[in-house]
Amino acid sequence: GTPGTGKTQTSQAAAERTGLRHVNVGDLIKQNKCYEGKDETFDSYIIDDDEVCDLLEPIIEEGGCIVDFHSCELFPERWFELILVLRANTDVLYDRLSERGYNEKKLSENVECEIMQIVLEEAKESYDSNLVHELQSNDLNDLENNVERIAQWLENWKSNNQ
Ligand code: ADP
Repeated sequence: GTPGTGKTQTSQAAAERTGLRHVNVGDLIKQNKCYEGKDETFDSYIIDDDEVCDLLEPIIEEGGCIVDFHSCELFPERWFELILVLRANTDVLYDRLSERGYNEKKLSENVECEIMQIVLEEAKESYDSNLVHELQSNDLNDLENNVERIAQWLENWKSNNQ
């Protein structure tokens, strides 16, 4: 999902509920400095995709991961059984990102990204569209429902893959 849609909060809650491991890719990128430079206009880092994939490969190979990132086209298709794209309403997202201290340019860029469904389109282009699901992530009720759906998906996956 677009930054602010709730990926980290949802991943954390889903990891607690299911016992899967939450892999926060943004944090790993920062810790390991997997970037090629900084885009000053957007106040964001330009990440080194190959370095990120090399870093993640052994973690993913162990299995049972919830991979939390705003982009998915850089990852190999074989890594995932399910792709979830979190969505939030414009007003909700605007408030969350203002609270995060985003400047006006970054704020409007991200809200526009959500309106244009950039992350969803990228996911559908990069993976089998049957694996890609949208989840609304506006309030705590959505969060609870999403975590339950993830737990249910996992149970179904386990019974189909015994
Ligand atoms: P992301 O990882 O997609 O950037 P976060 O998980 O950091 O988003 O969430 C951004 C903010 O919105 C945080 O303050 C978080 O607590 C809040 N938040 C996330 N999901 C929900 C939700 N479903 N309901 C209410 N608040 C939420």
